[in-house]
Amino acid sequence: MAQLLYLDDPYLKEIDAQIVRAEGNKVVLDKTIFYPGGGGQPADTGTIFFEGKAVKVLGMEKSDGEVFHVLESPLKEGTSVHCAIDWEKRYKYMRYHTAIHIIDGVMVKEHGAGLSTGGQIFEDRARVDFDMPQLNRQLAEEIIAKANKVVEQGLSVKIRYLTKEEALKVENLARTEPGRKLIESLDRVRIVDIEGLDFQADGGCHVANTKEVGKISLLGFENKGSHHKRIEIKLEGT
Ligand SMILES: [Zn+2]
Repeated sequence: MAQLLYLDDPYLKEIDAQIVRAEGNKVVLDKTIFYPGGGGQPADTGTIFFEGKAVKVLGMEKSDGEVFHVLESPLKEGTSVHCAIDWEKRYKYMRYHTAIHIIDGVMVKEHGAGLSTGGQIFEDRARVDFDMPQLNRQLAEEIIAKANKVVEQGLSVKIRYLTKEEALKVENLARTEPGRKLIESLDRVRIVDIEGLDFQADGGCHVANTKEVGKISLLGFENKGSHHKRIEIKLEGT
C-alpha cells in the first residue's frame, strides 16, 4: 500500500516517487500526493515527470486496496519519477472542503442539527445536503453569515488520530450509519478538528486555518423534501 502523504500534509505540491506497479496506463507509486477522490472531494489531476518527459495524470482509481494513477500514456514499473498535482485546483477543493465542515459545525452548534447527508465539491462551487426539516433560505443565509465569522476568526484546522475505541465514544463523529460502520472497521481514525467548532472523522484535504477559506456566499437553496435540503455555496475568487 502506497504512503498517502496528502493525509498528513495536504500542502505537498510536488514529490519524488517510484512506480511500484504498472498495469496498462495505470500506475501505483510507493508514495503519493494525489487524492484519490471520496467524501465529495474529487480526485486530483497533475503531471508525472521522468527523463525530461511530462505525462499527465488524468485521474485516480481505487481497486485492490491500492490507488492507481491513470496516465495519458504508460510508464514502466521501477521508474523513478517526479510528481506534481494541479495545485490551484486542489487548493480550491481544500478551501471548499473546510467551508463545508465550518457550515456543518455552525449548524450543530446553533441548531443541534447538522445532519449533512452528502455533498459535492467543484472548483467553483460546492453543494451540501442536509436532513434538517426546519432549514429554509433565510436560515441558510444566517448560517452562512455565522460561517463567515468563523472564517474571519482564523481558527486552526488540525488533523488528529484516534483509536477506534476512542472514536466510537465521540458523539456525532461519524454523521452517517455507513460512517459509523467504517469506523468500526478501522484501527486508527483520522479526524479533522476545527478548533472548538467541528470534530469529524474525515479522509479529505483541508486548509490549515479557516481564514484561507475566504468569504462564503450562498449560491442557492433548494427544498428537495422535508428531509432533503440543499445548500450551494461559492467562495471568493473561485
Ligand atoms: Zn469532509
